[in-house]
Amino acid sequence: MRVIHSVRNLHSWRRKQESLDGPIGFVPTMGALHDGHLSLIHRARKRCRIVVVSVFVNPLQFGPAEDLGRYPRSFHADRRLCREAGVDLLFAPPPEEFYPSNFQTIVRVSHLTQRWEGEIRPTHFQGVTTVVTKLFCLVRPDLVYFGQKDYQQYLVVNQLIHDLNWDLRLIRCPTVRESDGLAVSSRNRYLSAHQRVQAGLLSKALREGGNTMRSGVRNVRAIQSRMKKILGSNPDVRLEYLAICDSKNLEPLTQVGGTVVILGAVRVGNIRLIDNLLVRCPRSSG
Ligand code: AMP
Repeated sequence: MRVIHSVRNLHSWRRKQESLDGPIGFVPTMGALHDGHLSLIHRARKRCRIVVVSVFVNPLQFGPAEDLGRYPRSFHADRRLCREAGVDLLFAPPPEEFYPSNFQTIVRVSHLTQRWEGEIRPTHFQGVTTVVTKLFCLVRPDLVYFGQKDYQQYLVVNQLIHDLNWDLRLIRCPTVRESDGLAVSSRNRYLSAHQRVQAGLLSKALREGGNTMRSGVRNVRAIQSRMKKILGSNPDVRLEYLAICDSKNLEPLTQVGGTVVILGAVRVGNIRLIDNLLVRCPRSSG
């Protein structure tokens, strides 16, 4: 496995790939790799001739009061995991290499980024779309792999690819979960044993929402109140949003039908957790 830290070396590596056949798969990450990331890498490994992983804690996607400084960093473990997973190239630029001091360009998707995560973290998605644009221009992949865990991010990147006419395929990979349903996340390591139990309530509430829909309830308020009962059962879990939305444009619904997504965000102590569930329900009234 080759490890590259500089943009210049990545350019010259990429030029050498031109003459070779077969797809280049790309998995962008912020490191502290876990089973969720590895599932994306394994998926890419199955399909692609070359698998590229980036490890870059992107300062642009953190707000001033967020956890950039204490975001987990474990480069040596990440490098080992990538090597074991059969990654061909690990790109891990230092921040000053990726964003030199005169860096001035921001890429922004306008509409999809306004609600939910975008409302709570106003500059988050423009940080994501800027880093993703730069990475796609550098790596020039054929397939890119993103997790459903960050469903709004997936839709925003999908819009970005569409709007900028990139000739690449975005693959959405299922959320990897712990045995109690908690979505695997780099931030889970900061949960105390007590908080860890509380954190499990978010996925439990989402499952309750899904089951309620499948049992035939169509009214969103009725479904939300069943979910909130689970989260409300614990005073240390602070709900940020729990929305039932159209799965394509994330507009909130009043009645469910077709494929909907339940989006949830909570704080347990000062740790923020997000999760979601896609539910296909028949369009009958109820
Ligand atoms: P991050 O390092 O958190 O920026 O995540 C990098 C990629 O891994 C994103 O596409 C995430 O959606 C994906 N990812 C993170 N956690 C999970 C998970 N539990 N299951 C599947 N994909 C995940």
